[in-house]
Amino acid sequence: MIPGIESMENAFNIKGKNVIVTGGNRGIGKGIVIAMAQSGANIAILARDEATSKKTIEEIDSYGGKYRYYKCDVTDTKRAKAVVDEVVKEFGTIDVLVNNAGIARFFNVLDEDEDLRSWHDVINLNLNGYFTMSYLVGKVMKKQNYGRIINISSNSSRIVNLPQRMVSYNVSKAGIDRMTKCLAHEWAEYNIRVNAIAPGYTETELTFDKDQDKIEYWMSATPVGRFGKTIEIGALAVYLASPASEQMTGAVLTIDGGYSLAR
Ligand code: NDP
Repeated sequence: MIPGIESMENAFNIKGKNVIVTGGNRGIGKGIVIAMAQSGANIAILARDEATSKKTIEEIDSYGGKYRYYKCDVTDTKRAKAVVDEVVKEFGTIDVLVNNAGIARFFNVLDEDEDLRSWHDVINLNLNGYFTMSYLVGKVMKKQNYGRIINISSNSSRIVNLPQRMVSYNVSKAGIDRMTKCLAHEWAEYNIRVNAIAPGYTETELTFDKDQDKIEYWMSATPVGRFGKTIEIGALAVYLASPASEQMTGAVLTIDGGYSLAR
């Protein structure tokens, strides 16, 4: 039989799938964790902060799956490898990897000192972190002949988002889109699908830590008139993890309330 769905019965079913979400303890990652857990998936959260991670695990506990927290800075390759091994031992398989842990820095390039931390820190997590996790989990998925990788990009991958200056963020996200397409092409033969979600302004600390002027500007430039909710990003992630998206790979799906349409 040709793979892919034949009807809508079970098309969005991800029950029993084992999912890693980096940065799944808060923000968009948490929205993805909740959406996946409510849809029947088992979850491994990889993040640094133990308190918020344990709290998130407690919040999803009643959904009835297997949920674990692994303390992990995903820029630490040695630790990330050990954690991936632990997840395989505990869960048996890794069916879905959601690369989500990311940071943004607003900065004027010419005001930076020569350490260029606002460049290197962002590239190191947003781009190198996603690549390293894809590499480590990709090896597991190849062995399984099954895997779904979902990269959380941003609409900033394709526009110069305003009014802030954040070249490292925009470049990291453009790199994620390109990485998504390259790995999608390279790994299709192992039945690994690689897709990206490009959110716009979404209700998280990354957005709301910023000053009121920026928030008002972003809101006024969003045609639907509101920011995204983290669970809405989660819903799209469920689709990308489910049989319904079997034929999709290398896609970057924008979900930004129309923000990038007129840019
Ligand atoms: P938050 O700042 O709310 O959360 C960031 C998450 O990343 C936390 O869970 C944090 O956990 C984790 N994290 C940070 N550094 C590391 C690290 N070195 N290793 C492991 N985990 C880490 O951000 P958002 O939820 O807003 O952003 C999540 C993703 O969504 C990012 O990739 C971001 O670029 C993207 N995005 C966000 C948008 C928005 O408007 N919010 C819009 C478009 C894209 P901990 O600190 O415990 O490690």
